[in-house]
Amino acid sequence: MPIISIQNVSKFFGDFQALKNVSLDVALGERVVVCGPSGSGKSTLIRCINRLEAHEAGEILVDGTRLTDVPADLEKIRGAVGMVFQQFNLFPHLTVLENLCIGPRRVLGLTQAQAQERAMRYLERVQIPDQADKFPSQLSGGQQQRVAIARSLCMEPRILLFDEPTSALDPEMIAEVLEVMTELAQSGMTMIVVTHEMGFARRVADRMVFMDKGEIVEIGAPEDVFAAPKSKRFARFINQIL
Ligand code: ADP
Ligand code: MG
Repeated sequence: MPIISIQNVSKFFGDFQALKNVSLDVALGERVVVCGPSGSGKSTLIRCINRLEAHEAGEILVDGTRLTDVPADLEKIRGAVGMVFQQFNLFPHLTVLENLCIGPRRVLGLTQAQAQERAMRYLERVQIPDQADKFPSQLSGGQQQRVAIARSLCMEPRILLFDEPTSALDPEMIAEVLEVMTELAQSGMTMIVVTHEMGFARRVADRMVFMDKGEIVEIGAPEDVFAAPKSKRFARFINQIL
């Protein structure tokens, strides 16, 4: 059984249809990379998976729970599905350690000692335990994004969604974030990553999804879709970004 099942999902913003009949199943432990032009619906798709957006038609099941059935279980869904954003979204007035402890304390009910122990474990995992007492503004962009990844990991999610996690970073900081994401992928985390980092996609993705105009236009193993794109739109896209 897939851990994420998206069936014939449509999403409208007013009259504008951002997702058109999208279907995608993701298996436990699978790594899916989503690419496509700006405005093609990539963010909308992954935001529907943790119910940051509500879809209008079709079904999304996460770990067996149908998202339309469970407004009351939203915290459970958000706990199971972590999200890493382009702009990090750290609390600027809290230290790194406090940023990491707040979710486990408030949502999972951990004690301060438990939350701090867990936070330090995940800061070590992203290789910045020495930054625990700093504020986000005192860190580089790459370090801030690694804190954001550690913050998601502190909730011990079953699935991690990434929305262009390296797009806001200076070029020299992209590699350190991709390295952490690669390590996570190798550890067996189920991941959906919206990115245009095609080197990362080739190394890490089990499947590539190409979206255009609210539709999944192409899907397959990276070695297959890159070698022989089936659609003109994907071929053109690859040529533009490589
Ligand atoms: P992508 O992430 O692929 O760049 P998005 O999923 O952000 O694309 O957006 C898909 C389309 O939906 C775009 O045309 C965008 O303008 C529109 N859209 C996204 N969010 C909203 C919103 N909250 N209100 C109105 N339109 C939106
Ligand atoms: Mg987007």
